[in-house]
Amino acid sequence: MSKAEQLYRLQLLDTDLDRARKQLREIESALASNPAVTHAQAELATAQKTRMGAANDVKSLESEARSQEEKLKADEDRLYTGKIKAPKEMIDLQREVEVLKKHRAEMDETLFAAMLVLEEAVAAEKNCRDALDQATRHWQEDSVSLRQTRDQLKDRITADEEKREAICVSIPRGDLEIYTALRTKRASGVAVALVKGGACSQCGESPSSVLLQHARTGSSLALCSGCGRIMFVG
Ligand SMILES: [Zn+2]
Repeated sequence: MSKAEQLYRLQLLDTDLDRARKQLREIESALASNPAVTHAQAELATAQKTRMGAANDVKSLESEARSQEEKLKADEDRLYTGKIKAPKEMIDLQREVEVLKKHRAEMDETLFAAMLVLEEAVAAEKNCRDALDQATRHWQEDSVSLRQTRDQLKDRITADEEKREAICVSIPRGDLEIYTALRTKRASGVAVALVKGGACSQCGESPSSVLLQHARTGSSLALCSGCGRIMFVG
């Protein structure tokens, strides 16, 4: 077995571990929150605000209508009980009653329009609530299979980590340090390049025959002249 072979086996395992850990992170984040649910929650919050505003409008219009109605009733009582004797006062009161009646008709229209707005806001809020329920249900359904995949991934990672420890025991410390340093430097995390058909599988460089021989039988690790990775001749 060449010096690089154990490192190559370690590399395959680490690549698999990197992939599994990345997938695990993605699943954990998909289980923690869901964009469709978050969006539906925001829509519902807006719809609730609109509905509360519309309800407040109706409430204050109703209260205004009530006080106008009371004033009108009081004026009419005064007018028809015959307590007012002065003609000018009588005319003024009659005018006021007419104005109040006109206001009441306008108020009825305004109130009716506000009630329609409220009705629409209530319906819109219900739609948003239904959409949120549906998004939550879908998320929960998806979460069942996501949790299963998560558990399988965790088991696989634990098993791979155990295998990794077993491999590492048989690799000289210095080689392991070179491997770790190269892996940290590379975004891909690939420190060992398989050399196949005389070319590096990572950068395409064809190493010299001397270097190839060194990679096969040398007492130290051979690094690719193109990408600097540890060469493993397969
Ligand atoms: Zn290379």
